[in-house]
Amino acid sequence: MSALFDCAVVGGGVMGCATALFLARGGMRVVLLERGPLCRQASGVNAGTLTMQMTRAALIPYALRAWEMWMRTPEWLDGGDVRARARPGLSVAFTEQEECLLTERARIRGAAGAPIELIGASRACEIEPGLNPAVRLAGHCPIDGFTSAYLTGRAFRGALLNAGVDLREGCAVDGIDPGFTVRTAVGPVAAKQVVLAGGVWLEPMAAWLGVRLPIKTLINQLVVTEPMHPVMASVLGVASGLLSLKQFENGSVLIGGGWQGMGDREHGPIAVRPESFLGNVRLAAHTIPALRAARVVRSWLGLEAETADALPAIGPVPGVPGAWTIGSVHSGYTSGPYFGRLLAQAVLGMAPELPLFPIDRLLSQAEAA
Ligand SMILES: Cc1cc2nc3c(=O)[nH]c(=O)nc-3n(C[C@H](O)[C@H](O)[C@H](O)COP(=O)(O)OP(=O)(O)OC[C@H]3O[C@@H](n4cnc5c(N)ncnc54)[C@H](O)[C@@H]3O)c2cc1C
Repeated sequence: MSALFDCAVVGGGVMGCATALFLARGGMRVVLLERGPLCRQASGVNAGTLTMQMTRAALIPYALRAWEMWMRTPEWLDGGDVRARARPGLSVAFTEQEECLLTERARIRGAAGAPIELIGASRACEIEPGLNPAVRLAGHCPIDGFTSAYLTGRAFRGALLNAGVDLREGCAVDGIDPGFTVRTAVGPVAAKQVVLAGGVWLEPMAAWLGVRLPIKTLINQLVVTEPMHPVMASVLGVASGLLSLKQFENGSVLIGGGWQGMGDREHGPIAVRPESFLGNVRLAAHTIPALRAARVVRSWLGLEAETADALPAIGPVPGVPGAWTIGSVHSGYTSGPYFGRLLAQAVLGMAPELPLFPIDRLLSQAEAA
């Protein structure tokens, strides 16, 4: 067997990449094992929205710190760039029900530190002139924004290599033996500690350690238009549907989230659901009327993980000293880099600057490992 690593990170999405990077910068000898290319699952196909309004209140302090990190990506990723842009964020309500939802959400998130104010239609249309004036109420957060998520893997790759991470892409892991010996198709890898960063595949990964960690899978569906003249200047969400909208600098508009695709990760294949596609596009065009003239070029799907209580799975694996998990939270891209930094602090033996989210609350030991 090859040399003993201080830590093996399994899964190279934003969570695994950030953890591996900060572990290596903290002085550890780290191997990162990813079965495909870096950040080509959720972390590369997501809508790239950096949002306080879709982040759960308990995670706002984390998201605020992560937002700062995203905006300064080239500084801490050795020039790696995801084209992060700060934009005003609007979460809009067109119905009375959405108004109630929005008011309550803004109150809870505001109390958690998110700079969200409720504004009326005229102020919302000043901030976003493309907005349908039928809007009744909006939550305004001046510090939302977006990245071009497909650049995430490329942005991390250079920094990981510079930090000395042994980066193994195209290297699927199929089990972990006690100790730890990580089994891969091209031979075992030995490490003193392991971090499981498998996104929606965290459940089968935890099972390698004899732990049952239930993870729900959402099948998110995105749509992108041809480049258009400027039709919007903000990052927009519709209060009820988690729909997100933004226009990139090349003019294309990304319509994200909303109604889901079909299939599931175990019994695949997954597919675009036509009614969801139409529903998402119609709602987008209702929100920004200029989108009625948009021409869609592509729709795609991605798998998003969520735990039973919708809070992340970040912390030690109970009963398995030296094993850790990270991930599985809705809107996890927004907070991903900061979560990775926090977990790295714990794995390095330091007190994390904000509390982790240990998984004891979620799991039961599997009867047979
Ligand atoms: C379509 C879509 C839109 C989204 N939009 C947003 C958004 O706008 N804003 C936001 O904040 N969040 C968004 N999210 C959520 C966000 O993308 C995720 O929360 C985040 O990227 C999860 O990162 P991760 O590293 O935990 O998981 P992933 O990125 O899925 O990484 C897990 C990695 O583990 C690897 N892996 C799995 N099994 C193995 C194995 N056996 N061996 C080796 N490697 C393995 C996978 O190949 C994968 O690369 C969206 C998600 C989706 C799917």
